Amino acid sequence: MKINIDQIPPEGLTLGETIPPKSLELDTEIAQLCSPIQIKADVLKITNVVTVDLNLNTQINFICSRCLNEFRVVLKKKLKLNYQVDNGQYGIDLNPEIRQDIILGYPIKSLCKPDCKGLCPGCGKNLNVGECSCKKEKGKGDG
Ligand SMILES: [Zn+2]
Ligand SMILES: [Zn+2]
Repeated sequence: MKINIDQIPPEGLTLGETIPPKSLELDTEIAQLCSPIQIKADVLKITNVVTVDLNLNTQINFICSRCLNEFRVVLKKKLKLNYQVDNGQYGIDLNPEIRQDIILGYPIKSLCKPDCKGLCPGCGKNLNVGECSCKKEKGKGDG
């Protein structure tokens, strides 16, 4: 999203834009943007400072680091940006900040749910679905 400084009226302005999911290069090993990023921006310019109130809305597919299942997270963020602008500067590119903010919000370890049981190291079964047989053999040795 880019803002033309010249086009900001004294009372400010509201902009809307939809950015295609691939254009900001937000995909990582564990995360993949699966829907466009919807952005609403309230822009205000006071002397040489441009203030932008951003509302981001998108959906991200994460891969659970325990069970390797894909799960979808709806991401809604509010972001406030301040730009010092010089005379003669025409535009502001918000994309680097938007990108950075979304990336920094990625979890280091993505979990499909806080108590994900993960995969059995023995047989590879997804333990969220049910217990596997090798756990019973190992688990409680009665004698
Ligand atoms: Zn999981
Ligand atoms: Zn097992």
